[in-house]
Amino acid sequence: MSKQQNVAIFGATGTIGTHTLDVIARHPDRFRAYALTANANVEAIFKQCVTFEPAYAVMLSEGAAESLRSKLRDAGSSTQVLFGMSALEEIAAHPEVDAVMAAIVGAAGLRPAMAAARSGKRVLLANKETLVMAGSLFMQAVEEGSATLLPIDSEHNAIFQVMPARRCDSLMDGGVKRVLLTASGGPFRTKTEDELQNVTCEQALNHPNWVMGPKITIDSATLMNKGLEVIEAHWLFNAKPEQIEVVVHPQSVIHSMVEYVDGSVLAQLGNPDMRTPIAYALGYPDRLDSGVSALDLMKIARLDFEAPDIVRFPCLRLAYEALERGGTAPAILNAANEVAVSAFLDRKIHFMGIPRMIESVLSAAVIQEARTLDTVIAADLAAREAAAEWMMVH
Ligand code: NAD
Ligand code: MG
Repeated sequence: MSKQQNVAIFGATGTIGTHTLDVIARHPDRFRAYALTANANVEAIFKQCVTFEPAYAVMLSEGAAESLRSKLRDAGSSTQVLFGMSALEEIAAHPEVDAVMAAIVGAAGLRPAMAAARSGKRVLLANKETLVMAGSLFMQAVEEGSATLLPIDSEHNAIFQVMPARRCDSLMDGGVKRVLLTASGGPFRTKTEDELQNVTCEQALNHPNWVMGPKITIDSATLMNKGLEVIEAHWLFNAKPEQIEVVVHPQSVIHSMVEYVDGSVLAQLGNPDMRTPIAYALGYPDRLDSGVSALDLMKIARLDFEAPDIVRFPCLRLAYEALERGGTAPAILNAANEVAVSAFLDRKIHFMGIPRMIESVLSAAVIQEARTLDTVIAADLAAREAAAEWMMVH
């Protein structure tokens, strides 16, 4: 590919966003940060705009956009500042944009990711919530828009790398028996059921292997992250729930595996650094220097594996159940989880209150077919209300 690619980075100030800019900065001949977006962190995006000189910057609120605009004006920048969800959708579909890094956290990332898919962009999908909420609609948008979908989540990126090169309609057509999703097990892997009742937010935020945003870090501690990734794998690889197995692998060196019918198991290994999957997706099909240090197998010395425990970590079970139920169930699971995680981060509920709240919201919800985006968004909102009500009585 000779032409320089214009990349729009949604969620530029987050962990994935800053790692993406790090990789882009290593390859100025190949990539231009054409647009950067953030929720409210004006200071952080201002610095990024000064360094990368994007054509556009988008903030969620008008106030944040105004404050960024005046800072950029004073700095003599020509970056144009927009705000709001429709501006995000416009940038995702902008004719000058070649690739979209979808790295907003949570349900807020759904609409821009859909817009990028419909407009046939190269979609680098970090926002797993998009596939959890609206997997069927999103995959349809990718197909209809002739978009190129490249998974950023390290497990799915690993699977993508070791899947058969030719496109197959089903896993079996490609000779694939199962996909094996690895999970670090999070900071509470060895805690007993009793101990889990009393773990703190600080402990939950202290992930053993990965540096990530707060929401996904809590999801990793509850294993909801792995649950969301099971649903993500279902849509990305057309895998049935029984074809997706979770393997706890505390070292986070094997990022996932594919088992073939002949008994071969192919894995992708590397240091736990998101710049590897980001560089892979940015450069695909070429390989690029990502800045990630070489894997030192002698130093790692051993790789361990164990089965996940759905009794101590009910969120993983809840995600499999939501996937089996289908329709709007995964969107409800996701919305209830977002409310629960934010309540836990605000010290309003205990750690084990997270699965309790989600289970309660899911069991009371009416599941519908996820036929339109409006149905999905309505289910998301209703689940948030139900979760807020649960909080009032618990
Ligand atoms: P983060 O919290 O570090 O960053 C989130 C970004 O989204 C920020 O730029 C923030 O400004 C923006 N944002 C937040 N709420 C918004 C809203 N309502 N509207 C618009 N923008 C908003 O999160 P992260 O760790 O970078 O994760 C981003 C996404 O990537 C998540 O979906 C996560 O599950 C996924 N992911 C992250 C990692 C990782 O290593 N961090 C790995 C795999 C997948
Ligand atoms: Mg992951």
